Amino acid sequence: MAVSDPTIKTKPAVDETGRKSSRVLQTRDLRKEFGGLTATDDVDFALEEGELRCLIGPNGAGKSTFLNLLTGQLEPTAGSIYYDGHDITAMPSHERVERGISMKFQVPSIYEGLTVAQNLRVPLQQVVDDDFAVRTREILERFDLLAERETTASDLSHGQQQRLEIGMAMALEPKLLLLDEPVAGLSVEETAEIADLLCEIAADDGVALIVIEHDIDFVESIADRVTVLDQGTIFREGSIEEIKADPEVKRIYLGEDH
Ligand code: ADP
Ligand code: MG
Repeated sequence: MAVSDPTIKTKPAVDETGRKSSRVLQTRDLRKEFGGLTATDDVDFALEEGELRCLIGPNGAGKSTFLNLLTGQLEPTAGSIYYDGHDITAMPSHERVERGISMKFQVPSIYEGLTVAQNLRVPLQQVVDDDFAVRTREILERFDLLAERETTASDLSHGQQQRLEIGMAMALEPKLLLLDEPVAGLSVEETAEIADLLCEIAADDGVALIVIEHDIDFVESIADRVTVLDQGTIFREGSIEEIKADPEVKRIYLGEDH
């Protein structure tokens, strides 16, 4: 009988994202093809524990696809995903959530017919045994939704809905939080509130974040480092100052609306 040696598969994960490493996430040669189109093209991406990284790039660059590979929403064509000492490449989504990967999708995924408090109960049920009331209140206060606790989610403003969704993702007590365009369509004030919340989540909770965003001013207000994706590959990586000053980045990305 052929005995498969599990260490062959898990060793790179331990080396790259295990206890001896400060990295929480590493992808290796991660690839996703849709028919003849390569949406993610052999991406090696690394993220440190507690880091807040912004992912930018033109429409169709492969940003959402990349995050969906990390959550398990999409299955890679090739390559590996190492997270927190484990090879999670083939792990089902719900197990990734249990291990601390939480996602706020591009399309809002709150329950519109439920109240704010009922919405929060959905993720809390997965992690809390009893004290729902205490945890619910903590999250409502933190995300400035206490006054809206009995409001039906569909009656919330767009900014409140975004805060609720981030609150729901944080209710799962993640180690890695992925956000796809969390401030799209928000006012300047609402955007500033989300920026503060995300910075706080990275600094105070030690949660690592990957934030996809188009608004370069928002990116500048939150990011340590920025990764620019273009045609499925990492085009540039650096500080926001480096990225803003890069003429090639301006050409492929900022050129779009400037
Ligand atoms: P971004 O989020 O950067 O705008 P996406 O990751 O959504 O880009 O898309 C990357 C490329 O992959 C695009 O060309 C898009 O049309 C294609 N794509 C994304 N999802 C699918 C899918 N489910 N089926 C086929 N093509 C897809
Ligand atoms: Mg997208």
